[in-house]
Amino acid sequence: MAACVFCNLDQTRYLMENDVAFVVNDINPVTEGHALIIPKRHFADLFDATEEENKGLFDLLRKRKEALQASDNTIDGFNVGVNIGQAAGQTVFHLHIHLIPRRKGDIDDPTGGVRGVIPGRRVY
Ligand code: 5GP
Ligand code: ZN
Repeated sequence: MAACVFCNLDQTRYLMENDVAFVVNDINPVTEGHALIIPKRHFADLFDATEEENKGLFDLLRKRKEALQASDNTIDGFNVGVNIGQAAGQTVFHLHIHLIPRRKGDIDDPTGGVRGVIPGRRVY
């Protein structure tokens, strides 16, 4: 896929990889350490992943989370999320799992976490 940014990332930017997926830092991080776990195969929708890809993606998600925690003791929690489809906010149509470190006080009220996606809507 010549036009796809994630098919054309420079491999020197990979933080971790396995046979089916890799990890890079987000170019526009929500918080310090915001990473993306991306399959090597080009497809847009999490639910189109094979069993092997599901396992490979989750293995890297866990490994990156553990590496972040080991190297940064200011991290208190994480948001993990996948945007599927334009209506859900997806802008790059090559699957990626967002791994977003969170620190106490990084926003006034974190209540709702990944559920707080529609401004003004109650999330609990
Ligand atoms: P989406 O809105 O599709 O879930 O998220 C796309 C993400 O990809 C955004 O967080 C954006 O900052 C990130 N992104 C877009 N282009 C690039 C790029 O060229 N390199 C990297 N590392 N991240 C990118
Ligand atoms: Zn792609």
